[in-house]
Amino acid sequence: MGKKTAAMLLAASLTLSACGSAGTSEISGDSAASPDSSTSSSSNSVSPGNSTAGQPANDSGSKDQDQASSKGSANQTTSGSNPDSPAASSDVSQNQETTASTPAQTEIKYHMNKVYNIVPNEEGTEKKVVLLTFDDGPKEAEMINQIIDTLDKHKAKAIFFVNGYRVKSHPELLKLIQKRGQVIGNHSWDHIVLKDQSEAEVRHQIEDVQKIIKEVTGKTPVFFRPPHGAGGDIGRKVAKENGLLYMTWSNGSLDWEMKAKDPNKSEAIIKNVMDQLHPGSNILMHELPWTAETLDQLLTKLEQKGYSFVDPNSIDASKQP
Ligand SMILES: [Zn+2]
Repeated sequence: MGKKTAAMLLAASLTLSACGSAGTSEISGDSAASPDSSTSSSSNSVSPGNSTAGQPANDSGSKDQDQASSKGSANQTTSGSNPDSPAASSDVSQNQETTASTPAQTEIKYHMNKVYNIVPNEEGTEKKVVLLTFDDGPKEAEMINQIIDTLDKHKAKAIFFVNGYRVKSHPELLKLIQKRGQVIGNHSWDHIVLKDQSEAEVRHQIEDVQKIIKEVTGKTPVFFRPPHGAGGDIGRKVAKENGLLYMTWSNGSLDWEMKAKDPNKSEAIIKNVMDQLHPGSNILMHELPWTAETLDQLLTKLEQKGYSFVDPNSIDASKQP
């Protein structure tokens, strides 16, 4: 029992090369692309013409489909069996203030596979898990609290993939997410399509977010999701250099296609997720009011199907698929 404390301090020091400050400054604020404002195309019924869009990560895919394209993903579950879990701890960890960058003491039990599913490192570990993620915040305290209240009710943790420009305007919201024990991921500074950008710009988009999150929370993220699922080769490379696990998703709620006036959004969100549900589902949602309202029902439904919610801290972020 003695040795819980020792190992925790070092991971912190793996800080990354301080960012090579981006040369470019002109980031055309395509933040419009974020789901809050998206959806104007009228012809756009749920699934893009592209039959099996499967994985969004196809950086070659067109920009606007990116997010939509995850509908109907068909993944083969790679029965992961990679015995390299650095077992660490008890389950008592709850980083509720996280002064420096104390890594959560959660035991590493999972990794991500090539199609962005979360799979156990070892046989015998529960496979029927889903990863919950909320992109494009932080936007509003009320919504964040509503989402986290529901997560708490279900004893679930999620990754909140945030944009740098939003953190800059509302650092207190980022602190709120952290203080409430949730995990923060990097979703680029401006929410632009990275695959079209120069390396300098991509560095700015990723590394400046690492920096601001570290400044605000004391912790550097280990998860990265490119906006629109399109990070390109450079995005992947820069993410890796920064110790970030690059992921898109494997189960899209399509909450970003919905508008306030649409009826039956909750039903639609639940149906979308359930239709694509499989062990290890990496579920893409957003900080949106209808998602916040639906979350309790959705999580209940998932539990009824025998799924539990994987703690992002138990995923081996250093293991690139
Ligand atoms: Zn996004």
